[in-house]
Amino acid sequence: MGSRQQIGDLIRRAGRTFGDAPALVEDGRTMSFAEFDVATDRVGNGLLARGLEPGDHVSVLVPNGIDGVVTYYALAKAGLVRVSLNARETDVELAYKIEDSRSRALITDGRVPGPTESVITTDELATMMTSGDASPCEVVRDQEAVFRLAYTGGTTGKPKAVILTTRSELAEVANFLVDLLPDVGPGSVMLHAAPITHGSGAFFLPHLVKGGCNVILKKFSAQAFVDAAVQHRATATFMVPTMISMMLEDADIDRSRLHLTRLCYGGAPIAPALLARGIEVLGPVFAQLYGQAEAPLAITCLQPTEHTPERLASAGKPYTLVEVDIRDSSGKSLPAGESGEVVTRGPHTMSGYWQRPDATAETLGADGWLRTGDIGQMDAQGYLYLLDRRHDVIISGGFNVYPREVEDVLLTHPAVREAAVVGIADAKWGQKVSAAVVLREPVDDDALMNHCASRLAGFKRPRHIEIWDELPKSPVGKSLRRSVRETMNAQKVAENA
Ligand code: AMP
Repeated sequence: MGSRQQIGDLIRRAGRTFGDAPALVEDGRTMSFAEFDVATDRVGNGLLARGLEPGDHVSVLVPNGIDGVVTYYALAKAGLVRVSLNARETDVELAYKIEDSRSRALITDGRVPGPTESVITTDELATMMTSGDASPCEVVRDQEAVFRLAYTGGTTGKPKAVILTTRSELAEVANFLVDLLPDVGPGSVMLHAAPITHGSGAFFLPHLVKGGCNVILKKFSAQAFVDAAVQHRATATFMVPTMISMMLEDADIDRSRLHLTRLCYGGAPIAPALLARGIEVLGPVFAQLYGQAEAPLAITCLQPTEHTPERLASAGKPYTLVEVDIRDSSGKSLPAGESGEVVTRGPHTMSGYWQRPDATAETLGADGWLRTGDIGQMDAQGYLYLLDRRHDVIISGGFNVYPREVEDVLLTHPAVREAAVVGIADAKWGQKVSAAVVLREPVDDDALMNHCASRLAGFKRPRHIEIWDELPKSPVGKSLRRSVRETMNAQKVAENA
């Protein structure tokens, strides 16, 4: 029989090994490794006592902080499947995910976006954490069973849930420790500036298992981040490029007071000029990671020492335990210098999309190779350069926006006949959500913006709407987002000229 190691085993071992040392810090509140082990036992037992059974799916809508982390790993110990929700989304968006994931319960700090079989509040959680049953909560599940579901968008517009297993989680920890964080140990401090539900969460376990401390910022602001980094002597952090840009613009940075050895960034393309500026201000501490929900945060990485001027546009080399190849549309492997789709294989990749056999078959081959949907090329030394996305996902401020979802909302306005949503280059947000619409009857763009505001999370709303007489179409009548994007970008360049 193969390994049966569970995520809970890692937490228990860290509790025994690092005992009273601080494992988690948030706003003056500290939790030791031993306390974290007990807190996750108590909450895990409490959740099972509420009638949940191992394998049940549980949606979690809890703010960034210690309670959120305890919730996540209590679910792991109890064999419950975590479905992390993003509080920035609207009730309609969240209700869809709760229903689609077949969640049996919602853990929430008060907000209940839609019908749910049972609701567990953070107040109840707090009671479990302090006075619940502290006996070891050790549900053992197959490493191939669903461990958590991570929602991602898709070309069809409706978000899909990526199935991640215990095998995948353990491999993600190994990938990080081998390549990205090889020096983590007692004394290391990870400052979580971004939501733990997203990329930053991947840094939690690698620090915990090695005795490093995880410090959680409730909300990111450039100066609060820099101050917290100084105060907690942070050695590592994770940012999306937009946050780096905000930090460099808005914060007072005195490099001599910082202890950062790894400023990890990724999740979206970064402008080489921004990176060069960052290195100038903070020194050679930048480490890039390229990954996706389907291959959690580990496809390639660019080490701090590899941030030489000629490589600033590269996403780096494959992680040691991860395979990467470039393929043409027929699936043939391409030589260095030729562009094609990036494909990857490794023990961390998803096992499929939840209840989407067609999407799974399109993305994940029987041989384990995962199609990333990104177009790139490798140079002769094995460095990857990402060029474009196969589909047209917009990344604004590090969040993915799926154009079809925004188009669908625009099209619910009675005056809108056609809509095409694209990302246009933007210095601050990376890309700005922009729409071209064809109207049935006159309406001004403010009315359309308001229409979107009540139906879409802030980061998905179009910031710019143009009224066009017609949209460019392909021979089969599909609107061509690419040419809309080109036209809008060309206008922008002309305006700035
Ligand atoms: P998500 O699944 O939401 O994490 O989005 C993953 C996508 O973000 C990838 O498929 C890439 O298109 C993009 N991405 C992630 N990391 C990088 C990076 N380092 N450079 C450029 N694009 C990236």
